[in-house]
Amino acid sequence: MRMIFMGPPGAGKGTQAAVVAEKYGIPAISTGDIFRANVGEGTPLGLEAKRYMDAGEYVPDSVTNNMVRDRLAQPDAEPGFLLDGYPRTLAQVEELDGMLAASGASLDAVVVLTVDSEELVQRLLKRAETSGRSDDTEEVIRHRQDVYTEQTAPLIDVYRDRGLLLEVDGLGEVTEVSERILTALDGVSRG
Ligand code: ADP
Repeated sequence: MRMIFMGPPGAGKGTQAAVVAEKYGIPAISTGDIFRANVGEGTPLGLEAKRYMDAGEYVPDSVTNNMVRDRLAQPDAEPGFLLDGYPRTLAQVEELDGMLAASGASLDAVVVLTVDSEELVQRLLKRAETSGRSDDTEEVIRHRQDVYTEQTAPLIDVYRDRGLLLEVDGLGEVTEVSERILTALDGVSRG
């Protein structure tokens, strides 16, 4: 199973991605987590990424694409994967298409978590109290929502046109949302 998780910042993507990946026995690959790990280790990639992340901007496509290409080449991603937070731009969609085509693979599903944007800002402000993430200030949070609307929301139409889109209501208890996602995916894996 090869799937993508999309949704605005704060929609609960990361939490749900972990649950679903575990269920399917595939790695959850979060570009945000990989960037943060690199920032933590002070690698050149981390130093480059941090400037953008702290401003609530996307890391340049070339940097992100190369990182994902390397990650998807790891043996654990061969039978399947769940991409959390990638692709986020049309250029990344094309790049991923190329990577998959090169290995004769294709996507099975794109899950989009939908949540009201004011609810999201409130969630993120709450998370900011404990996360220690330097991109969790109100100004940066609002900016990240705008960047999502401008650059990533258009991808929803692309994947809908391909018949891959599963839109899931992201509002409610974590377990409730997990159930909705797994039910939607169940239809896909049965064909
Ligand atoms: P959130 O869902 O709250 O935006 P993430 O952990 O997914 O958080 O991402 C944190 C930051 O990492 C993003 O704001 C962006 O700077 C960077 N990032 C993550 N994924 C990508 C991507 N696919 N393309 C460009 N930048 C990305």
